[in-house]
Amino acid sequence: MIPEIEKASLEDIKAFQEEKLKEVLCYVQEKSPYYQRLFKEHSIDIKSIRTLEDLIKIPVTTKEQLQNHNADFICVPKNKIVDFVTTSGTLGEPVTIGLTDADLDRLAYNEAISFACAGVTENDILQLTTTIDRRFMAGMAYFLGARKLGAGIIRVGAGIPELQWDTILKFRPTYLIVVPSFLLKLIQYADQHDIDVNASGIKGAICIGESLRNQDFSLNVLANKIKSAWDIELYSTYASTEMSTAFTECSEQQGGHHHPELIIVEILDENDLPVPAGIEGELTITTLGVEAMPLVRFKTGDIMAAHDSPCGCGRNTLRLGPVVGRKKQMIKYKGTTLYPPAMDNLLNDFQEVESYVIEIYHNGIGTDEIGIKIASQNASDVLLHDIKDHFRSKLRVSPKIEFCETQEIQKLRHSKLQRKPVSVIDKRG
Ligand SMILES: [Zn+2]
Repeated sequence: MIPEIEKASLEDIKAFQEEKLKEVLCYVQEKSPYYQRLFKEHSIDIKSIRTLEDLIKIPVTTKEQLQNHNADFICVPKNKIVDFVTTSGTLGEPVTIGLTDADLDRLAYNEAISFACAGVTENDILQLTTTIDRRFMAGMAYFLGARKLGAGIIRVGAGIPELQWDTILKFRPTYLIVVPSFLLKLIQYADQHDIDVNASGIKGAICIGESLRNQDFSLNVLANKIKSAWDIELYSTYASTEMSTAFTECSEQQGGHHHPELIIVEILDENDLPVPAGIEGELTITTLGVEAMPLVRFKTGDIMAAHDSPCGCGRNTLRLGPVVGRKKQMIKYKGTTLYPPAMDNLLNDFQEVESYVIEIYHNGIGTDEIGIKIASQNASDVLLHDIKDHFRSKLRVSPKIEFCETQEIQKLRHSKLQRKPVSVIDKRG
């Protein structure tokens, strides 16, 4: 199930998207109070936006603008909205996103072709190990996508390894939809209860929320840990509520495929100018075919690179590489730019490191400093030097590193302000 447009040439895909772009601009000009105002304030004649290159004439939309003017982005009367979801904003109050009946159909189509990318067919059964309620969009998208594709789906929900395994053994699903670190919990539970993971019938996992790969698409530490115990295919999927669109890996596992009928992709530098393929920048999107809350040039805050070489699977669409980091967490360290996930990867490499927190702060002269607190049963100068050497050679930075008690680190990781445990504490204000 590969839509024809995904096998078309890059030129044809571009021309196709330019037609879609005209449609979305006409639509928001007519229906969106936010974009009406934006176009007026900047004297933008939407007829002058004919190509994807012309997009730079339109100012970007930030998360803050979406949050501050949330209601102005809605293009339909409230009684047309079927599903109300929220996504955490940057300022505290979550952003509300509404979906009409047509938006839910679009979401189902999006997820069906995304599952198809990962090799899921109507003969497969998916086990959903994430939340479907709590105002999240993702769980609903998976359910609708499976239904559209004709596959089965079992909604187990988050956590509870015992119930997950009971479901795997009872219903024999073939794919899991899962946060990859939870796969380690499932492996651990199986070990303790004499379950042979490799005889479970699971073929693959569609992985959300955490990266599986390094920038060259080789497996990262987490993915290697999973694969060494459980021989299944791991497919990354990247999505967000604002985009209402997923980028899922195919059999080649070389980044998440772009679906040109659903979204326009730009990768922008710090001056909001496009960067060439293969270069990191901020993912910026324009939704296509969204009825309730379309977004034009929305900056996602995620740093990544897009790749445009044809893919072995037969699709010619762009592929998005692993998320390098959140733009807000970018660290400028003595001329080197880096993001916390690279440090997570490096620290996870050390078996001796039981837990850690990374603190980022401004030093006396206003530049960024990195402090890392580590808990280890084997705390020693040798280990300390070993970790420091790794930081210098792999990331070209020398953070301050100290050993601490496990309890102190647990306390720092479970801040009252955050819902989930954190590994990075950004004190830069
Ligand atoms: Zn592919």
